[in-house]
Amino acid sequence: MAQLLDGKEISKVLKEEIKEEVKGWKEQGINPKLAVVLVGDDPASVVYAKSKQKVSEGLGIDFELFVLAADSAEEEILSLIDSLNTNTAVHGIMIELPLPKHISKERVMAAVRPDKDVDGVHPINRGYILSGEEGLFPATPQSCIEILLRSGVEIAGKHVVILGRGETVGKPLVFLILKHNATVTICHSKTPDLGAFTRQADIVIAAVGKAKLLKKDMVKPGAVVVDAGINEIPGGICGDVDFDEVKEVASLISPVPGGVGSLTTALVMRNVLKGIALQGKEAK
Ligand code: NAP
Repeated sequence: MAQLLDGKEISKVLKEEIKEEVKGWKEQGINPKLAVVLVGDDPASVVYAKSKQKVSEGLGIDFELFVLAADSAEEEILSLIDSLNTNTAVHGIMIELPLPKHISKERVMAAVRPDKDVDGVHPINRGYILSGEEGLFPATPQSCIEILLRSGVEIAGKHVVILGRGETVGKPLVFLILKHNATVTICHSKTPDLGAFTRQADIVIAAVGKAKLLKKDMVKPGAVVVDAGINEIPGGICGDVDFDEVKEVASLISPVPGGVGSLTTALVMRNVLKGIALQGKEAK
């Protein structure tokens, strides 16, 4: 029976580290601050923004929410981003998605200063993932790596099979995990016979968005399984892994909820602090 990769416990430790780092910045006269931009009133985005506010304030990071009407012109959003880019009291900027249909997501994302882009979506940060340079990277792929490393799982030299090549999780994860010296296989919707690949994995990471896709017979006994999926099912949410089945063969497995998703907001906050360091480098 597998042991849990416990995202909630790891998140507590991570938050304590972040609090300490925040204290350190404050001693140097810098009050870390995150600005979140919400366009319209998408109910899920409102919930996400509020949850970031709660976490950031709990960590001692200042938070400001900027709400624009759903029918705002793109120019208005770009002008707000411009003012946040140049405001030295703001260290991280996050644009809640989805944006209204008449707004170009690409233009808005590219308008955020790369060293304040705590969501890791700016084309420059996406390039840094490829090149291996320091930048701000998306929270969910980072969370997959943190949950492994902080549970004592060695990544170097392991065969990691990633399910999904989405822009948010799978694709950035490929390059982040390569940096940890894994051998990586990427599977997607056009991969015939997923199980033939996943059965070869020492570590399987699922980031697909299909409830309970990974079954027991697709996992090598003793493998480690990380589930980044979030799928709504009657009565709650579940991951891309059939947890009840797969826990019988895996050695370690992350639950949903309580796994990868438990770390993501804290990792956004860690990006705010990393942003301060990157902004300091630019100033020198
Ligand atoms: P996405 O952009 O929709 O990508 C999904 C990927 O899965 C695509 O590469 C797709 O292949 C592949 N896929 C679809 N059906 C498949 C199948 N039957 N077999 C193998 N691969 C299949 O999704 P995403 O934004 O990367 O998100 C992935 C999952 O992570 C979702 O469940 C999402 O809710 C979750 N998520 C979690 C967090 C968190 O905080 N835990 C944050 C963000 C996202 P093609 O490329 O061929 O279409």
